[in-house]
Amino acid sequence: MELAELLDNARRNEALLKRLQAFELQLLSAQNWQDFLTLLLEALPSQFDLDAVSLRICDPDGELKSSMLQSLDIDQGALLNQIEFKVSLPIARADVIETPPPWRSGLRLPLMRGGEYLGQLIMYASREDRFTPGMATDFMQHLAAVIAACLVMVRQSEAQALMALTDPLTGAENRRGFERVYRREWARGQRQHHVFSMVLMDIDHFKKVNDVHGHGTGDRVLKNLCRTLKSTIRPTDHIGRLGGEEFALLLPGCQPDQLTNVVSRVQESIREMQVLNDSGKRVPVTASGAFISVTPRPHQDLSVEQVLDHLDKYLYKAKAAGRNLFLPAESA
Ligand code: GH3
Ligand code: MG
Ligand code: MG
Repeated sequence: MELAELLDNARRNEALLKRLQAFELQLLSAQNWQDFLTLLLEALPSQFDLDAVSLRICDPDGELKSSMLQSLDIDQGALLNQIEFKVSLPIARADVIETPPPWRSGLRLPLMRGGEYLGQLIMYASREDRFTPGMATDFMQHLAAVIAACLVMVRQSEAQALMALTDPLTGAENRRGFERVYRREWARGQRQHHVFSMVLMDIDHFKKVNDVHGHGTGDRVLKNLCRTLKSTIRPTDHIGRLGGEEFALLLPGCQPDQLTNVVSRVQESIREMQVLNDSGKRVPVTASGAFISVTPRPHQDLSVEQVLDHLDKYLYKAKAAGRNLFLPAESA
């Protein structure tokens, strides 16, 4: 190699190293999935002459995916399209890999942290000579180690943030969590003229369930109800436990004409719940509720308390009318 060429290479390596260090510093300051994933999936390709980056994550119990879904706004959900969540993933070395068209070369980097295999980062290029067998990958492996460490840190801080917003018995959002979701949805609705729907519900004669079957059975009813609701509504919908046996749903994008159907499905699924008491006998459960669609208007301010107070009046009517009934509320 000519001296000039060697010097040129050294200069390029130095410039790359500087860019990598700056990028790693940014990564280290990421505290939530949005910052972390935006850096990895958007900033990384643009700063390092890559045509695409994808992430494969080992997620045997779906915990990471649900953490990301909970934390990301729906508008940022597109980030998740660049991630594959795998129940298991064979451990692979850092290596140049064959890529599907339109890419012409690719590099796979394992993400390892303290013996835990977290997944793989894959870089794609449309240039054939961007990644070639035998090329030095030590800079990139260093980057992969930093990414893995950051992934673990963000996982931890997101889990802590989530715990503060979650009801431990049912896994539903607690009141604080639900209020946060509402504020986010309200702001998004104002920006994008987006409708969302809300349902307020309360289990019928729940005191009697506790009195007759015991508190343990009562707790099982609550847990089962949330599981049932979860499987009846969309993964992007929200369930909040507002108090003892009072729950609210927030359904982003749910139009008024779909809402009646959703509510019927919810009501049906509650009625069909199979909760057993301590002697193995089925405990029938019904709920009453009220529902409404909300279209946030610019300069309007409608708090979650105002919507819930409004729905509460109709919930009261549904109870007075004999329970096991969901009533539409007039617009707030
Ligand atoms: P209604 O149909 O009018 O709603 O009657 P209700 O009996 O459901 O309503 P009420 O407000 O009188 O009773 C609510 C009961 O919910 C009383 C309380 O002991 C029970 N409860 C609240 N939180 C929990 C909990 O975490 N676990 C259990 N098992 N019961 C709870
Ligand atoms: Mg009740
Ligand atoms: Mg109640």
